Amino acid sequence: MKQEVIVRFPPSPTGYLHIGGARTAIFNWLFAQKTGGKLILRIEDTDAERSSEESIQGIIESLKWLGITWDEGPYFQSQFISDHLAAAQKLLESGHAYKCFCTKEELDRKRDQARQRKTALQYDGTCRHLSPEEVAEKEAAGMPYTIRLKVPRGEGFVSFEDIVYGIIEKKYEDIEDFVMVRSNGQPLYVLSNAVDDIRDRVTHVIRGQDGLANTPKQILIYKALGAPVPRFAHMSLTLDPKKAKISKRTHGERVAVHFYKERGFLPWAFVNYLALLGWSTPDSREIFSKDELIEAFSLEGISRANAIFDVRKNDPKFFTDPKAISINTHYLRTLPVEEIEPYVRKQLEKTQIWDPEFEAIKRDWFLRTIDLIRTRYHVTTDFGTLGRAYFSDDYPIEPKALKKNVLKHEGLKVWFPILADRLQGMDTFSVEEAEKVIREMADELGIKAGILINAIRTAVTGQPKGPGLFDVLITVGQRRVVERLRKAVTFFKLH
Ligand code: GLU
Repeated sequence: MKQEVIVRFPPSPTGYLHIGGARTAIFNWLFAQKTGGKLILRIEDTDAERSSEESIQGIIESLKWLGITWDEGPYFQSQFISDHLAAAQKLLESGHAYKCFCTKEELDRKRDQARQRKTALQYDGTCRHLSPEEVAEKEAAGMPYTIRLKVPRGEGFVSFEDIVYGIIEKKYEDIEDFVMVRSNGQPLYVLSNAVDDIRDRVTHVIRGQDGLANTPKQILIYKALGAPVPRFAHMSLTLDPKKAKISKRTHGERVAVHFYKERGFLPWAFVNYLALLGWSTPDSREIFSKDELIEAFSLEGISRANAIFDVRKNDPKFFTDPKAISINTHYLRTLPVEEIEPYVRKQLEKTQIWDPEFEAIKRDWFLRTIDLIRTRYHVTTDFGTLGRAYFSDDYPIEPKALKKNVLKHEGLKVWFPILADRLQGMDTFSVEEAEKVIREMADELGIKAGILINAIRTAVTGQPKGPGLFDVLITVGQRRVVERLRKAVTFFKLH
């Protein structure tokens, strides 16, 4: 029988869920979904000083928003400290580890000497060679000790095949007898993380490249404990176009998942985008439904090359990677309109123009309106900003729309009230009829229809651009169009 795949996502709750963490979570989740395996959420909260409850809640909220589901957890590393210590004890008993009584001062002195001699700054193994009597004596004298792993000595090396980076070898002589438990009795991360993976029977460790430094040591721990060694897949870094690591310090909130939620991304669009960061799709395709992504995903497809996230911090046009925006735009414009509806509602609530009738007697109109205006939008926040005039009579006239030359046309002051009368007098306010009335009026006046069309658009929507004007008029409705044209004479300041 094939072994069940078990993966884990173990964030350290020292901040929000960032792009890199989300990408790791997504790859673990995709792999679990693909293999019918299990994903465990494990919070690595043993760094009490840097961990916070707020961060735990934030990470969980972001994962939920992305739609990442897990099968077990959240577990908390801090609840398993006794497991970590028991493992260290077992290693002492089996002779794979030893107590080290060297003081910090001694170690610092030895390190200084090694630095002067330009030799490796490794621990020299003084306590590795203590006799049981010497150990007992020092313990009886109450000397504090750390617990170090007895790394095999001699020619050999730790070797493993990383699914992304291939065969990796590290010579024993390059690994010092590293500390697993501090002299204050606290287990170190390298031990805790491995012991948790053993307990949880993790089969694949899919994590960021920064984990690579720990892997040879952890493999030694696995072996010394007689546990099966999982497969490893380390993921490349996420860099900005200047090849700097994406970080909060340089890129601010844009590295946080919640930033994209607030800026109007659809969760699946964002998952789709993140999945493409450092994972090559079989046919350079960019749009994947959930099922398609699960089907297409493979750990072997993860690229060794670092992923580039085009932050666009100072770009007035795009507030983030244009590719992320184009993927979001695709979903925003093509998903069934009912799937977009809840996000629009949220935006209208946020901008205080939500009307409960939109989900009751006006629902058909509401859906039709979303469907019409989304063809121009990129993010869901656009509904509450660019789309305001469709949902509320209190909307701004964009300076960009007012600047258009056609609005300076003298005649508009006279024409608008006449046009308003004609539109008001229409029996059937349809796209075809409205178009006829407006074009006929332009003909009568001997002006281009575009002059009227642009001016009407500005008056009725406050925007310089939008969907076809006649569709817009029908959507906004006869009564409101007429009112807005009459009012426009005052705010256009047409003299
Ligand atoms: N807590 C580590 C981190 O957030 C996870 C390392 C691992 O996956 O083993 O980077």
